[in-house]
Amino acid sequence: MNKVGIVYGDVYLSYNFGHGHPLNPYRVKLFFDLIKHYGLLQVLNHVEPRMASENELMLVHSREYVDKVKRLSERGYGMLDFGDTPAFKGMFEASCYLVGGTLVAVDMVMSGKCEHAFNPGGGLHHASHDRGAGFCVFNDIAIAVRYLLDKWRVKRVMILDIDVHHGDGTQWTLYSEPRALKVDFHESGLYLYPGTGFMDEMGEGEGYGFMVNVPLPPRTHDDAYLYAFKEIVPTLAEEFKPDVIIHQCGVDAHFEDPLAHLALTTRSYAEIAEIMHELAHKVSGGRYVMVGGGGYNVGTVTRAWTIMLSKVVGIELPDELPREWLIAFKNLMGYDPPATLHDKSKPFISEGAWRSIMADVQHVVREVKKRFSRFFK
Ligand SMILES: [Zn+2]
Ligand SMILES: [Zn+2]
Repeated sequence: MNKVGIVYGDVYLSYNFGHGHPLNPYRVKLFFDLIKHYGLLQVLNHVEPRMASENELMLVHSREYVDKVKRLSERGYGMLDFGDTPAFKGMFEASCYLVGGTLVAVDMVMSGKCEHAFNPGGGLHHASHDRGAGFCVFNDIAIAVRYLLDKWRVKRVMILDIDVHHGDGTQWTLYSEPRALKVDFHESGLYLYPGTGFMDEMGEGEGYGFMVNVPLPPRTHDDAYLYAFKEIVPTLAEEFKPDVIIHQCGVDAHFEDPLAHLALTTRSYAEIAEIMHELAHKVSGGRYVMVGGGGYNVGTVTRAWTIMLSKVVGIELPDELPREWLIAFKNLMGYDPPATLHDKSKPFISEGAWRSIMADVQHVVREVKKRFSRFFK
């Protein structure tokens, strides 16, 4: 039995906001093609997604909002927010598959069928109780948390969100929930959509102290990011002792991403996946659910997710990309594929800029530790 599950079906291609929209549905297909041509499927447990039920959607979303999505989905036009998230025909069903895919991954991990599972179609962290936003219709992460607490009766869930955008939908829908520790690394809301995720947003009521925001300055590089990550994430996981970890794997903090301003390379994604995999075995009995997220350079997303998954499986992949995949990429995208699996170039950052970014990030780390001193004893 293969220990790592992958949830994917071509039905994911139907989550499509239309030509020219930054969320290109081919990114999930080309990611799946890449792991296939690398031969990883032989060591993975591949399952198809299912549709989430309306009751499952309503673990987080209002009846009115679910009905609104169904209405817009039948009509096929209109807007879910102020312009980023247009309705399309079949949007309701397509969204249900993405959410259901995350629930399939959760079930695989919780039933013991797999230790870890990845749903690249999930990670829709901007959707909240009664609205869609930022390319996200339903919030599969928040739904998975409620599903874990209600159906699987787990006591504690840790969510790690590394998408470059703050996961505002996840934050607000679970803001008063102390059984979910939410940890969110993102580019500061001073510079980037959705403009939230500051350090003083720490939760409310019983959930106060269970929302950890780590806002980072533009141009944050591998060294600064990994410094903050290693200072913050392992301690939180070891102190909170989650029964399961959900990891939103948005890869738009990469320097080639067109929508944001951080400067990570594939080195960060490799190390993050290694750290999280090891942590899961240490603190949550190996139970580790990965979901997708942002990433708007298709060549980068497919490579970064493949590297992350290979780390979790424990297989070192050759840097040379499979020939069949290079052809498939060119055919689907209409432009040249990336040259190698790992980045061969990195962003230019002067020594002075490197130091000043590092100092800013060190300041953020100190502030986070101060605010969450009960975890950082
Ligand atoms: Zn493992
Ligand atoms: Zn994003």
